[in-house]
Amino acid sequence: TTAPPSDLAIARAAHLEPITTVAESAGIPLDRLQPYGRHVAKIDLAAEQDLAGKPRARYVVITAITPTPLGEGKTTTAVGLAQGLSQLGHRATLALRQPSMGPTFGIKGGAAGAGFSQVLPMETLNLHLTGDFHAVTAAHNLLSAMLDNHLHHGNELDVDTRSISWRRVLDVNDRALRGIVEGLGARIDGVPRQSGFDITAASEVMAVLALSTSLTDLRGRLGRIVVGFTTTGHPVTAEDLHAAGAMAVILKDALMPNLLQTTENTPVLIHTGPFGNIATGNSSVIADRIGIHTGDYLLTEAGFGSDMGAERFFNLKCRVSGLLPDAAVLVATVRSLKAHSGRFRVVAGRPLPPEMLLEDPDAVRAGAANLRRHIEIVRSFGVSPVVAVNAFPTDHDSELAVITDLAESEGARVAVSTHVLDGGKGATDLAAVVAEACDDPHQLRHTYELDEPLRDKIEAVATRVYGADGVDFSDAAAKDLARFEVLGYGAFPVVIAKTHLSISSDPSLRGDPRGWRMPVREVRVAAGAGYVYAISGEMRTMPGLPKHPAAASIDLDADGQVVGLF
Ligand code: ADP
Ligand code: MG
Repeated sequence: TTAPPSDLAIARAAHLEPITTVAESAGIPLDRLQPYGRHVAKIDLAAEQDLAGKPRARYVVITAITPTPLGEGKTTTAVGLAQGLSQLGHRATLALRQPSMGPTFGIKGGAAGAGFSQVLPMETLNLHLTGDFHAVTAAHNLLSAMLDNHLHHGNELDVDTRSISWRRVLDVNDRALRGIVEGLGARIDGVPRQSGFDITAASEVMAVLALSTSLTDLRGRLGRIVVGFTTTGHPVTAEDLHAAGAMAVILKDALMPNLLQTTENTPVLIHTGPFGNIATGNSSVIADRIGIHTGDYLLTEAGFGSDMGAERFFNLKCRVSGLLPDAAVLVATVRSLKAHSGRFRVVAGRPLPPEMLLEDPDAVRAGAANLRRHIEIVRSFGVSPVVAVNAFPTDHDSELAVITDLAESEGARVAVSTHVLDGGKGATDLAAVVAEACDDPHQLRHTYELDEPLRDKIEAVATRVYGADGVDFSDAAAKDLARFEVLGYGAFPVVIAKTHLSISSDPSLRGDPRGWRMPVREVRVAAGAGYVYAISGEMRTMPGLPKHPAAASIDLDADGQVVGLF
């Protein structure tokens, strides 16, 4: 056998349709396209109204078991599934987050799928695309500058400088900026205080952009962003600082979703990239509201495992969008179940231990508890899970069979998908079972009602989704939750900022952890995005670069083509 061509070779050889052709296939009026070159376009928000009369697509969320450092292949499988549905004669549109440039140059490399299931053009996707992330960075930092300027010019609003939570952002992994002292120098150089930088994906502005339903809604949400509190405990907002109008102006084009295509010319909406740990980890509401009228199926990816991105998809994003999901795809791999067995030492950024590639169905079985639990989590939201076994060329049939048997014994639909090697033709089995699952009786069930107290909402997610025995709030967190209720934030949904490496809040607990309690150290309000978030465990909001960053092997070749992005 010959080795399959590299991702780069496949991407370069793929036939790309003009983006207008892709738009036509999705029924998007051409006068609503704002092309950025031949293969990327922004979609004018007026398209939502144009398409509103068209039939509603089936809406399927793509999630996964607990991620290992290997990556389960949600994006890759979502691309393959869209192509597979097209192979079966359905019209499918895919909605994905835009990758952050930080990890692209750090540990992850590109995030545009793999093999014959990729989003193209991949260089554009993985780098600046149409500049939306830069717009988020600029809008966020404008608010930071206006806040510091307000302090410099006399602090008329009486902002308590120690209460300021609004930092600065940058789309570069740069650990040296996690904690900084700003305003050093002479009196004219500003008010000295401690602050820091987060990655752009962690900005509340990114979450605002992802959750906004219109320009008016965007403008309102930006105004409600809380940067800190006055000395008497009142929130200080972007509106109070007169920054929200200018921020909306910076972001007006970024609110338009970007249209790209798969290696088989399936339409892909790429839009926003809120962080998966402390924010929503889902692509935009607006892209889904447009995409829902562009075909028979709309597939949307939710970050990390079903306890993370999918929980926020069901409890938060669907509440904002008003769109009801029809099924959920749970991506699992042989290698990740082996990693969940605890029998191998898997380290991010290092090659796989070679013994992991040996045929070992028993090791796959040993990781089963995690898959079983994710099937339960998806069912708790009232939709049918479809287990998608994302096959790697090095998997053995006996190992793949362990996962299909396991899913079947749980009564879940399951299919093995070989899209990476075979493109859409390798995903037709998966496409067929996903189509069936959408016809199962389903009704979205939320984990909590919005009118419950914030404390109860946090406890509901911890106990019913994560399987905790209960929640231990620090004194500060309990006080702040009570204060948030008084300040009018009590009806917000909640986001729990915890590790994605375990269903629990302890990254070292594998499988289906039981008999543990979730600590909540601190709570914060994202009043613009519209949620309260509870921090459990150490959360990094500015990644660092590894010893050998991916950036070190990214370059231009003699023809000016980008190499090393995979
Ligand atoms: P996720 O969206 O879950 O983070 P991705 O789809 O981005 O995962 O895939 C993670 C990594 O694994 C990528 O580098 C991708 O190229 C690789 N990968 C995923 N599925 C396969 C597969 N079936 N065969 C080979 N490589 C794969
Ligand atoms: Mg992904």
